[in-house]
Amino acid sequence: MKFQLLTKGVLLLAACVFAASLQAGERLAKADVEAALAAAYAKYKDLQEGANADYIPALAKVDSNIYGIALVTPEGEVYTAGDVKSEVSIQSISKVFTMALVMDEKDPEAIFNNMGVDATGQVFNSIVAVEQYKGAEMNPLVNAGAITATSMVAGNSREDIWNKILSYYAAFAGRELSVNQEVFKSEAATNQRNQAIAKLMYAYGHIKDNPDQATDIYTEQCSVNVNARDLAAMAATLANGGRNPITGKQVMRNENVAEVLAVMATAGLYDDSGKWLFLTGLPAKSGVGGGIIAVSPGRFGIAVISPPLDAAGNSVRAQKAIADISNALGGNPYAVTPAK
Ligand code: GLN
Repeated sequence: MKFQLLTKGVLLLAACVFAASLQAGERLAKADVEAALAAAYAKYKDLQEGANADYIPALAKVDSNIYGIALVTPEGEVYTAGDVKSEVSIQSISKVFTMALVMDEKDPEAIFNNMGVDATGQVFNSIVAVEQYKGAEMNPLVNAGAITATSMVAGNSREDIWNKILSYYAAFAGRELSVNQEVFKSEAATNQRNQAIAKLMYAYGHIKDNPDQATDIYTEQCSVNVNARDLAAMAATLANGGRNPITGKQVMRNENVAEVLAVMATAGLYDDSGKWLFLTGLPAKSGVGGGIIAVSPGRFGIAVISPPLDAAGNSVRAQKAIADISNALGGNPYAVTPAK
């Protein structure tokens, strides 16, 4: 059902993939990007599908009409449409950047060996997925793997670890970020399921100690406020080999970017990741706050915020808008034209 809804619009645009196929390193034309953003914004502005997440009470109260699109190129050009000022909590999009931090501090094998890099085929907060392989054979973008990744960030105190995580995210966004205290408190009061998942990961030896602290820091990282422009800058940093194209700062190790993108492609939209990759070819990550980031390596980072979600927990408008824009701009890295 969901698949059919998405395909409808996207397949109509399939021809454009070929028409607009972009070679790596080729600059996007300003007018094309502006037209693609404006068209996607207008097309989905009045769409009423989906509903805000409500299992975290504070998320149910967020304005469902927030709808903002931003795209940032490796040259640091910023394009926007709609509301790119309103902030929502980053939620699961944070998992990408904590994974990157752990890879930077240790190495990608630490992730590979501890929780794995495979899709679970289960919902993001699945306990069945933990049980199936005793906490292995999953990935850092589902809750069990993500809380475990947070537990792997080095530091002498909770404060140390937290400050490191927040400043790492801020370097990707290119500005200081802060926590939405209402969301943090709301999730902290209702996250017994995540606490249980962390205890299981501890029981199976993936979290080495203090699973409650890992869950608490994870909950706080999910509550960081971002707008669509922040998320697009974060995505564009990944699209640009780990260097923030706006600030010019090398934020993460260049050699780890490919692994981060691979995990996003495998598991970024949870159990709908395969459908998403089939339709767009883009490594991406969603959050239940309503944001999605997607990366066309070497070409652009894009983000859309719109809180109403589908059954898998992915923003309805964000999926459609990103798919349209990427297809219009030839963003699919798998779509190449044969050599002459
Ligand atoms: N903080 C949320 C949770 O753990 C994040 C989930 C999400 O964005 N999919 O449930």
